[in-house]
Amino acid sequence: MSPKSKDKIQIQFVGEAASEVTGSCIWVKTPHIEFLIECGLYQSSGNILSEYKINNAPFKFKPKNISYVFGCHCHGDHILRIPLLFKRGMRAPVIMPAGSAPIAQILMEDSARIMACDALDLSKQYGREYAPIYTQDHVDMCMAYLREYPMGEIIQLDEYVKFRFVPSGHIMNAAQIEIFVTEGNITKTIAYTSDLGNTHIKPYYANDFEPIHKANIFIGETTYGGEHRIATQRVRNKDLQKLKSVIENTCQNDRGRVLIPCFANSRSQVMLTHLYDMFGEDPSFKVPVLFDTPMGVRVCEAYRRLLTGEDAKKWDKVLQWPNIKFITDPMESKAWQNDDNPAVIISSSGMLTHGRSRAYAKALLGDSRNVIAFCGFSVDNSLASIIKEGKVKTIKLGGKRVANRCRVVDLHSFTSHAQRDELLNYYSNVDCEKVLLVHGDMDSKREFAIDLEQEISKKDKTSKVVCVNKSYMLGL
Ligand SMILES: [Zn+2]
Repeated sequence: MSPKSKDKIQIQFVGEAASEVTGSCIWVKTPHIEFLIECGLYQSSGNILSEYKINNAPFKFKPKNISYVFGCHCHGDHILRIPLLFKRGMRAPVIMPAGSAPIAQILMEDSARIMACDALDLSKQYGREYAPIYTQDHVDMCMAYLREYPMGEIIQLDEYVKFRFVPSGHIMNAAQIEIFVTEGNITKTIAYTSDLGNTHIKPYYANDFEPIHKANIFIGETTYGGEHRIATQRVRNKDLQKLKSVIENTCQNDRGRVLIPCFANSRSQVMLTHLYDMFGEDPSFKVPVLFDTPMGVRVCEAYRRLLTGEDAKKWDKVLQWPNIKFITDPMESKAWQNDDNPAVIISSSGMLTHGRSRAYAKALLGDSRNVIAFCGFSVDNSLASIIKEGKVKTIKLGGKRVANRCRVVDLHSFTSHAQRDELLNYYSNVDCEKVLLVHGDMDSKREFAIDLEQEISKKDKTSKVVCVNKSYMLGL
């Protein structure tokens, strides 16, 4: 579908998240202004070259024409391509919810560091020079342009654009956004959910989700739109019980180790808090809890400054738990990797695609006393998926074949995403002309769209449901 010439406002889905799970980027253009809603990295199975090519590809728009970029929450697939906009000439405010800047900075700096390593590896492997996608200089520039705004207030940016952040319940300070775009004497509202939290389970440190009730165009994420197993509080409680007994059996009875690979931001802090709930008040629990992710440690420090009220009190208690060892030094990390005494290890990345969790996986895999407890999404062909499937006897890791003997636990309730039933309920209640589905693979979006259309008609509404892809353009 193409916009008509009379359409004043054009919306185009220019990131991979148009038809996949990662890589958000929505381009909005009027005769007077152009802006972006998010600009995130495409993250796949860890094939460095294909990710490099996709993330380093030219933008469909001219970065210097962009007047604003909205970033709704601090996850890489939503904001980590923004420094590249600065590298390519954009000089515009980056607008994020209050409390985002310290975490965004940690993520962007880590991303620049990984990009430098990846560029070096690619250059070596293919015998030609690959430049890093962006560097610390571009991160610094981006941070200088980052502006934070409070949740819930309508902010007038200029005569054409107003916006409001609405809590999404996804992770700390995460927002949905309503953008009011004025052309002539007509104002249209574009609502975008970014990532939504799971309201069945009150997650640690996330805000409380609030629905958006109406918009002209409603753009909704569908990360779990194709997942029919619903993660409720009951499932979560079972998972927590399972994790507790796995740790007790493995570390205390079998004298093995338990690795919990986690994303460094948010998931690892939440998991640390759950471990504290299980064992923090039990003086007989002597097992060390290794928190071995340098970026995660920086996020832990930022949490201390950013959290308020009951959350701050809880986090303080967690940080004072004597069993926790925060590890940043690479030599100390190496020593722990080679130490086969009982330990619970939180390390990143969550999909074992890079980082220290990979080194721990290599150390633990060969011994059937050990357990890897997965607590998040893993894309096909990532090391996490291969280990979870358990079909292969040996796995090549760091140039060596390792026996795939350790046990595996999959805790699927630890998602910070809204579940299928919640998405159906929320999206079918919004008063709007169109619901545009993003952040999901095409097959599950199509299947979800059929059920959503039914829900919409049950509620006597007329919103049209569209599964967008990268060639979809909308005129208003
Ligand atoms: Zn997210």
